[in-house]
Amino acid sequence: MNNNGAGETAEFDYVIVGAGSAGCVLANRLSADGRHSVLLLEAGPKDSNIWIHVPLGYGKLFKEKSVNWMYQTEPEPGLHGRQVFQPRGKVLGGSSSINGLLYVRGQHEDYDRWRQRGNVGWGFDDVLPYFKKAEHQTRGADAYHGTDGPLSVSDWRHADPLSEAFVKAAVETGIPFNPDFNGATQEGAGFFQTTTRRGRRASSAFSYLRPAKGRGNLKVETSALAQRILFEGRRARGVEYRQDGNLRSAKARREVLISGGAYNSPQLLQLSGVGPAELLKQHGIAVVLDAPGVGNDLQDHLQVRIVTRCAQSITLNDIVNHPVRRTLAGMQYAAFRRGPLTIAAGTSGAFFKTNPRLATPDIQIHFIPFSTDKMGEKLHSFPGFTASVCQLRPESRGSLKIRSADPAAPPEIRINYLSTETDRTAFVDGIRILRRILAAPALKPYAAGEVYPGADKTSDEELLDFCRKTGGTVYHPTSTCRMGSDPLAVVDQRLRVRGIDGMRVVDASVMPDLMSGNTNAPTIMIAEKASDMILEDAR
Ligand SMILES: Cc1cc2nc3c(=O)[nH]c(=O)nc-3n(C[C@H](O)[C@H](O)[C@H](O)COP(=O)(O)OP(=O)(O)OC[C@H]3O[C@@H](n4cnc5c(N)ncnc54)[C@H](O)[C@@H]3O)c2cc1C
Repeated sequence: MNNNGAGETAEFDYVIVGAGSAGCVLANRLSADGRHSVLLLEAGPKDSNIWIHVPLGYGKLFKEKSVNWMYQTEPEPGLHGRQVFQPRGKVLGGSSSINGLLYVRGQHEDYDRWRQRGNVGWGFDDVLPYFKKAEHQTRGADAYHGTDGPLSVSDWRHADPLSEAFVKAAVETGIPFNPDFNGATQEGAGFFQTTTRRGRRASSAFSYLRPAKGRGNLKVETSALAQRILFEGRRARGVEYRQDGNLRSAKARREVLISGGAYNSPQLLQLSGVGPAELLKQHGIAVVLDAPGVGNDLQDHLQVRIVTRCAQSITLNDIVNHPVRRTLAGMQYAAFRRGPLTIAAGTSGAFFKTNPRLATPDIQIHFIPFSTDKMGEKLHSFPGFTASVCQLRPESRGSLKIRSADPAAPPEIRINYLSTETDRTAFVDGIRILRRILAAPALKPYAAGEVYPGADKTSDEELLDFCRKTGGTVYHPTSTCRMGSDPLAVVDQRLRVRGIDGMRVVDASVMPDLMSGNTNAPTIMIAEKASDMILEDAR
């Protein structure tokens, strides 16, 4: 192995890059039986920031650079040339330590579509056992849920009349009530469950890494930025990383496992010579494998937020902006782990179709009993609530490319939001349906006028313009190292990098396409399934 000046070299069976949603699962499962030694490298620090553990704390971590990569897209042509802020976790637990905590698996049909695209073993019946294996469902076990897993999935610990009124209003417009978005069907209106345990965040670091902490065969290194995968020919042999200003390397006897997330995994592959040959040459990087699909096919969920003024001072705006009510909420949380501080990125919501020709919902609504001009910024000084429209299966595709050979330089991210007619129409139609819900009788006592986009904006052009002016990410980038068997697919069905030995990618980047929901639970499922495959292949 060519160390190229790297200092100390240690040796492990598996070297995992990235302690995020996926990496922590791998670290736990691969070290569980004691047969294999595992090194887990994480660029960020330990998860000691207290806001990580309080659900509502995600608002504080949104722009907290000590635990966040804080990326930006390039100017987006479909959004009037705006750059879109892209928070990503840089800490033990990765994005599962800073995310909105919603537990939504997607639709059964998403996984059946993955299988139909040639990914044998990834249909809904194949992946359901892994969702269940991961899960500790506090409502109890049933055909769709497990109770023996490390990841605690719970109901919200706060009663909020607005969130309840939203569900009632949706039902009044003809959308069925759905008690479980992760059960037999996703369609309908109801309440989100969250990855929390007794009112505290259940990140993958909390759920998977903490229980494995004392194992002698698992080493976790924080503030360790992997800079390059080390190869012998086309076999991955180890990883070079920078920690405390020192260049170190670690050998992998069996495999190098890349779990850096949808932006950093393709970035590390490209930095290491696995990517589009032209791009690598442009940056003076020796080509190990010309893999044109690395960084290709980037997808993300866009959201457009409708803000309504509330007729009663019962929103989180009123609590946060009032010193006494704020203190009481803090005390309630400290004493009982209940109350407004347990609010996640959505309390209630709905999944519906914008067109009867569709087989499954194409829109997800996240409802939250607060309002702000921009996510992560100060809440409004007046009572307000927000319902956002998110298109579940965007056709728009983007790309991720390194900007330079410097491993610390942020990559160039292009998502191309709203670049197809289907995507644009889905948002315009989705806003219209949401407005019908917001005008339904159950919300009448609360809704005191639309703040954004404003009741005077009614034409298709005005609504689309609002989407372009204000749309932002739901933080779900995927598919930059997508699984498949076509020439642009990066990994095969066992998540092995095609054309390279001894290396897999295991994280949200391998999704063949973006599934119809929130991406944390599916990423954890992927890592559970990958762990089984890796251990099977080690026999
Ligand atoms: C603000 C926000 C809100 C979200 N809300 C929700 C939600 O409510 N529900 C939901 O289901 N999903 C949500 N998501 C998305 C979900 O959290 C992610 O899809 C999921 O965590 C991705 O997991 P991953 O393992 O692919 O990557 P990550 O969890 O991002 O992990 C990647 C890890 O690798 C580390 N890393 C990267 N490069 C290197 C390197 N070179 N060397 C060493 N370490 C490296 C990173 O620091 C990070 O810790 C949200 C995400 C964000 C950011």
